[in-house]
Formats: sequence, C-alpha cells, structure tokens
Amino acid sequence: METVGFIGLGNMGGGMSNNIQKAGYPMVVYDLREEVIKPLLDGGARLAGSPAEVARLSDVTFTSLPGPREVEAVATGPEGVLEGISAGGIYVDLSTSRPTLIREIEPKFRAKGAHVLDAPVSGGKSGAQSRNLAVMVGGEQEIFERIKPLLEAFGDKVFYAGAIGAGSVAKLVHNMIGHGVRQAIAEGLTLGVKAGVEPEALWQCIRRGSLGRMSGLHEGIARTVFRGEFEPASFALNLSRKDVGLATDLGREFNVPMPVANLVEQIAIEGMNRGWGDRDSSVTFLLQEEQAGVEVRASGVDPAKAGRFISTHPEE
Ligand code: NAD
Repeated sequence: METVGFIGLGNMGGGMSNNIQKAGYPMVVYDLREEVIKPLLDGGARLAGSPAEVARLSDVTFTSLPGPREVEAVATGPEGVLEGISAGGIYVDLSTSRPTLIREIEPKFRAKGAHVLDAPVSGGKSGAQSRNLAVMVGGEQEIFERIKPLLEAFGDKVFYAGAIGAGSVAKLVHNMIGHGVRQAIAEGLTLGVKAGVEPEALWQCIRRGSLGRMSGLHEGIARTVFRGEFEPASFALNLSRKDVGLATDLGREFNVPMPVANLVEQIAIEGMNRGWGDRDSSVTFLLQEEQAGVEVRASGVDPAKAGRFISTHPEE
C-alpha cells in the first residue's frame, strides 16, 4: 500500500485522514497544531517536521488547508511539498482554493516529474468523519484512476471533473449556487413568517411542493436550457414574473428586504420585454448567457434521468 502524507488535520482533514488510516494506509502527518495530530499518531502515523518531509516520506501527499494563502505557502514555500517531492510523487490538494493557483503550481511539480490533482470535497465535517463526501477531481485522468481507491477511502462520491483546476471550479460553482439558494430560502422564510404563517407549517408546505422534490428544477433545466428549447412552456415566464412580483409586493407590505427576489423579478421583467412571456420561465437563462458570453448546452442529458445536482444514489 502507498504511504500517504496528510497536511492540515482540521475539521475536514481530521476526519478524512482518520478514514485513510482506518483503510490501512501507513501515514505521515503534519499540522501547526499539536492537539489535532495526536489521534493520528496514536493510530500509528509518523510525525513529520515540515511539509517537505511529509512529501519526502510519502507516495501521495494530501493538503486540507484553510485557503489559497496557506496552500501556496505549504505547496511551494520554503520547506514546502515541492521541495520534498520526488519524481513519480503525487500531490493532491483537498482544500477549497483558487483554481488559478493550482494551475500555476502544477507545472512546477511537473518539472520535477511529480503529479498534481486538485480534489476539493463537499459534505461538511460530519461527512468527513462518516465517509459521506463528494470529491471533485481535476488533473491527469490516468493519475486520478491510479489513486481512486485511496480517494474512496474517505469519499463515497468520487468524480473526475477534467484537467487541473476543474475540481476547484466545480466546487466553487457548487458552493456559489448553494449560498445563492440559501439566501433565497432565507428571504422566503422570513417573508412567510412575517406575513403570518407558522415556521413549521411554512416549511412543511414548501417541502411538499415541487420545490421540495427539486425534480421540476433539475428536469426543467435539462429539458429547456440544455437543449436551447424554451417552447412549449411547461411554466411560462409571464406566470413566474407574476408570482415573483406578488412575493416582492408582499415583502414591501410586510417590510421584508428581499434582494435576491427583487433581482430575480427585474431579470424576469427584462425577459418579458424581449417578448418571451409565453416561453418557459427558464428562458431567462438566455439573458445570463448573453451577458456572460457563453452558452450552457448539454443535449445528451436525459431530462427523465437528470436527477439531482448531488444525488444520494452513487450510480447517478
Ligand atoms: P480547519 O481550519 O478546521 O483546518 C485547517 C487545518 O490546517 C488546521 O488544523 C490548521 O492548523 C492547519 N494549517 C493551517 N495552516 C497550516 C500550515 N501552514 N501548515 C500546516 N497546517 C496548517 O479548516 P476545515 O474546516 O478543515 O477546512 C479545510 C478546507 O476544506 C478549507 O479549504 C475549507 O474551505 C474546505 N471545506 C470545509 C468544509 C467544512 O464544512 N468545514 C466543507 C468542505 C470543504
């Protein structure tokens, strides 16, 4: 079995390294904080004095660090991973970091004959402990295939996203959508409660609608946006403009600030002024595509099998 190095044993790294150790890999560890190292040492891991030493003693070296500043310092700074790694060595960054940084770091490792993958994770501290993690991997596919069993020691949904940096891009997109949706939920729940509905009743009603199942959203995007076809409408833009407008009216009536909902309404109005009122409400994607200078088409995705963004079924 490969010797596995692990740097950064915090909320995420602690759980992931523990699962690697439980899978039987010999380990070398390093962190600035003594208290987080101890459980690994008790389990038989070797303590290194620097990231360079971790890499020198390991076949595969992982980092799980707060952000780009720490990743850059630990990967390429003095006594960093780059200094210790030898030809054939593999460095995998699990942090949520800047895609451009890992793309800058990778050629420096390649010059030494070593390999780099970016593999940010999603699932939180509890997922890291229980091996319920999505791992989004960028880099050489051959290297990914080689260490996939190791990634599966701590992640149950390991997915190859593309060339170096692709995992980090996917992770940032994942989180950005999540935080945007959460803000919309925050606006909706504060509006509903202030307008007189009990929080639990509101929650139960929302769960039972199409939003709760999320099926309409995912299937709808696959049927319309991915194909570039917005007619016939299954839910027309003029209806969604009306609904969002009614919600923002209610927000004004009850003094609930709703920045996301108001923005969504303005975008819908712009779409209406293009003469798209009878098209499917997802037609507003075209405005975003126009402003971003890019199209999002994936006609190969079967709407019936679009599933959820993150499924609990590993076969999806
Ligand atoms: P954390 O702060 O709990 O852990 C980071 C660890 O890195 C700490 O133990 C710290 O001592 C160590 N560290 C910092 N600088 C170091 C250095 N120079 N050398 C050695 N060790 C160093 O953070 P976390 O919550 O475990 O997050 C780690 C990464 O995972 C972040 O990029 C985060 O965005 C990402 N992430 C976190 C979660 C979550 O729910 N916490 C979920 C998914 C992804």
